[in-house]
Amino acid sequence: MLEVNAWRRRRRDAPLSGYQELCRELAASGPGTFAELDSAGARSVLRRFSEAWFAAAKRRKDGDVSAGFPRRRRGLVPVRWYHGTFALQGRRVRIPMGKGASPLWVRLAREVPYPLEQVRSITLLCEGGRLFLDVSAEIPIVSYPAGAGPDPGRIAGVDLGIIHPYAVAGPDGAGLLVSGRAIRAEHRMHLADTKARRRAVARRAPKPGQRGSRRWRKYRRRARMVQGRHRRRVRQAQHEAARSVVSWAVEQRVGELRVGDPRGVLGIEAGRRHNLRLRQWQIGRLLQVLTDKATLAGITLRLVNERGTSLTCPACQRRVPKPRGRILSCPHCRFSGHRDLVAAAIIATRIPGGGPTTPTAVVLPEVLTHRRAGRHLPGAGRSRRDPRRPRAARGSVGPRRPAPPPAGESLAHKARIHNHHRTPGERSWTPH
Ligand SMILES: [Zn+2]
Repeated sequence: MLEVNAWRRRRRDAPLSGYQELCRELAASGPGTFAELDSAGARSVLRRFSEAWFAAAKRRKDGDVSAGFPRRRRGLVPVRWYHGTFALQGRRVRIPMGKGASPLWVRLAREVPYPLEQVRSITLLCEGGRLFLDVSAEIPIVSYPAGAGPDPGRIAGVDLGIIHPYAVAGPDGAGLLVSGRAIRAEHRMHLADTKARRRAVARRAPKPGQRGSRRWRKYRRRARMVQGRHRRRVRQAQHEAARSVVSWAVEQRVGELRVGDPRGVLGIEAGRRHNLRLRQWQIGRLLQVLTDKATLAGITLRLVNERGTSLTCPACQRRVPKPRGRILSCPHCRFSGHRDLVAAAIIATRIPGGGPTTPTAVVLPEVLTHRRAGRHLPGAGRSRRDPRRPRAARGSVGPRRPAPPPAGESLAHKARIHNHHRTPGERSWTPH
C-alpha cells in the first residue's frame, strides 16, 4: 500500500485511500500480496490504513498541520477477524491463513470470558512489547427480578474530577466518592521513573542519523514495556472506579445517571494540546468506561451541561468566588459541604440536552460511601493516602512468556518452527 501510494505520488496521481478502492486493488493484485494473510486479514489491514488516512485528513482539514498521513512502514499491524472466520477451542484460537498456508494456532494465557456464540470478532495486536488478543463480544443486558431493577425515576448526578474520578449524588441523600489518588500517584511515579531513567541513559543516546547500539535498543525495548505496564495499571484502575459507581447505582436502584460533561467548559476538543494533568485525566475514557458498564446494568447515562456546578452554592444559588480545596464554603449563607458532591447534586437537577436549569431543590448526600480506585497498584495499601512504589515492584514488568500449554499439551508438532536438539559435540549441517 505504501509503495503503491509512493509511486502514485511520484506520478502526481491521487493516492489510494478509500477502503473500497484499496480492496479493488487487492483483488487485482491476486493472492500472496499480503504474504500468508488471508483476504479477511488483508482487508483488515486495508481498513486500518484507510481509517488512519481519513483521520489524518480530517485533522489537517481542522487546522492541525502536524497530523501526518500513514507513510511509515510498520512491523506489526493489528489484524481483525470477524465471526465465522476463526474458531475458539478453550484456550486456543484457530485463525485462517491464505491459500496453501496452514492455519495459525494462538495459545491464550486464560480462557475467553464469554460464551463462544457471543464472540463477534477477535483482533491480534501488539502493545508495549506484548501480544494481545482483543475480543469483542455481544453481551445481553442484565435482567433483574421484578421490583429490584433500576427505577427510571431515580436519578443520580455524577461529577467527573481528577482527585475523585467520580463523585455521585443519588436519591434519598445517598452519595458515593471514588478516590483517584492511587491513579494520580501512579502517573506521578511513572513520570519520575521515566525522567530518572532518561537522565541516566542520556549519555548513551545515539545522535540523529547515528545507528543505535544493542544496549540502546534494549533500553528502548524496556522503556516501551514499562510504558505498557503503566497504561495497563491506569486502565485497570479506571475500570475499577467505574465498576464501583455502577455497583453502587444498582444497589440504590438508580435508573439514570446524569453526568456533567466538562469537555465544553474546559475547551477540550480533538487536536488541541493540553497540559499533562489534563491529558492524564482522560475524561473521554472515564465517560466511555462508565457508559459501557451502566448500559450493561440497564442504567441510562445522559450528559448534561456542568457549567458553574462547582462554583454555585446549593443553598442560596449564588456564586462562590474561587473555592479552595475540597470543601465549598458559601460566604453568603454560611453553607459548607464537599465540593465534588455538591457539584454532583446540582448536576442531578440539570436537564439533559441543555434545557434551562430547573428550580428543583438540590438534595445533598448525607450517607456517604467511599471507594478507592486502583487498589491493586503497588504501594496502595489499605490506609496509605500517598502510595510510593515499593522497591520490589520496580524491576519486573510482568510475565511476557508465551502462555503455557493447557494440560501439558504442546502445539510444537503443528507449528512450523522446529527446534533441533543437538548433543554436545555434534555439528550442525545445513544443505545449501
Ligand atoms: Zn450560599
